[in-house]
Amino acid sequence: MNEFVGTQGLILNEPLLWERGRQGRTGYSLPTRDVDPAPLDAAVAGEGPDFPDLSEVEIVRHYTRLSQWNYGVDSGMYPLGSCTMKYNPKTNERQAALPGFAGSHPLVPSELSQGALQLIYELEHHLAHVSGLDAVSVQPAAGAQGELAGMLIFAAYHRDQGRPRSKILIPDTAHGTNPASAALCGYKSVPLATGPDGVLTPEDVAALMDEDTAGLMVTNPNTLGLFETHTRAIADIVHAKGGLIYADGANMNAVMGVVDFGKAGIDVLHINLHKTFSTPHGGGGPGAGPVCVTKTLEPFLPAPRVVKTGESYQLSEDFPKSIGKLNAFYGNFGILVRAYSYILSVGTQLKDVSQHAVLNANYIKEQLKDIYHLPFDKPCMHECVFTDKNLESHKVSTLDLAKRLIDYGFHPPTIYFPLVLQGAIMIEPTESESRENIDQFITTMRAIYQEARENPELLTGAPGNTKVRRLDETTAARKPVLRG
Ligand SMILES: *Cc1c(COP(=O)(O)O)cnc(C)c1O
Repeated sequence: MNEFVGTQGLILNEPLLWERGRQGRTGYSLPTRDVDPAPLDAAVAGEGPDFPDLSEVEIVRHYTRLSQWNYGVDSGMYPLGSCTMKYNPKTNERQAALPGFAGSHPLVPSELSQGALQLIYELEHHLAHVSGLDAVSVQPAAGAQGELAGMLIFAAYHRDQGRPRSKILIPDTAHGTNPASAALCGYKSVPLATGPDGVLTPEDVAALMDEDTAGLMVTNPNTLGLFETHTRAIADIVHAKGGLIYADGANMNAVMGVVDFGKAGIDVLHINLHKTFSTPHGGGGPGAGPVCVTKTLEPFLPAPRVVKTGESYQLSEDFPKSIGKLNAFYGNFGILVRAYSYILSVGTQLKDVSQHAVLNANYIKEQLKDIYHLPFDKPCMHECVFTDKNLESHKVSTLDLAKRLIDYGFHPPTIYFPLVLQGAIMIEPTESESRENIDQFITTMRAIYQEARENPELLTGAPGNTKVRRLDETTAARKPVLRG
């Protein structure tokens, strides 16, 4: 490989603002005072904060440089499995910034918020259509909060039936947030083992499902990047015992316009707008995790809900069985505008989005499976999962491979997840990458494999081209130093 995507380039040393500051410098000029000075009262005056003195250009350069150290989907390929780091078209940002949306306040009366309410109402209908379910609330502010809403709906439904239940089945390929959300609702998670070909079997579900089990929470496509092919049969087993099926639909990017979750027997599903529907994410938000339900469960959706009477829209609290409010107002509105804009601009091509996402992941899988260990050799969905089994004999690990990718200018994929596999690496190229970019990624992965055999220290010492090398990630998280 003589052509790198990454480069050492102009990497400048960047001291802290406190180190750079010099007493007396200033980055602003105030107009001449035209009133008499008055002393601050003592309580306010006190000791001022320890801010450094800097000129305007020093501040601009400091923050501009820091912003350039950031790697994002706008800088290059970001194949982070389970996270759908796809390109977010700029038109959606533009709509979210329209003054009428960006400046609207949730306390403005509904007569003056008709556009915002209409957008929420229509978005909920579009998402119902995309998921195949009947009713939606866009109130949850993250995928995990959508799960929590779903579990609260499970509990409210069973209470309403007069038969509260205490357990929930959770496959070992579920996303980690699933058992956490169930536990927050007081459910005890019962682990369900994945079958030999990476998906659940109806027999395993039948063996564990009983009348004290509220239902099953299944990530579909699951975290091995595989579609749970027996969902309908499994739903029938769970329903026969009075249980419900929750589908974690954060991986909707693989199945839009292809899978009808209602027909598959799903009762509750959440979608991650910040993954599939064009909101830049990572680093903790903001997000939106709409919860979609069947007609039977609609009365339990979070309130308030946007209702339409004649031609006007209102927020209504009149849902006596509702699980109640999940947020101060109505979720992260800016994210909803982006999703609405994305859905209207992509339209019926949402299906093509999913098909391309799946095609790209399968292409990578086929091009790498002769060298990297592929635990499930069958068609995958939006991501393909390898392990470090073939690297072990060269004394390099998944972590080393991920770090070496940084030297070549790629953001590393998700590693050591899902936990059901040893040394996993999850690659999700998404639909937005071109054939050339994907080929370059494949060539790089093959080159790194060659290095592992001939020059393993290039991997164990990676990254070698970056400003900082291998960081102590645990201490950084456990004992963060947040001030200069
Ligand atoms: C990302 C993800 C979640 C959690 O979503 P957040 O918005 O980060 O809370 C849940 N399930 C799956 C499968 C995911 O990929």
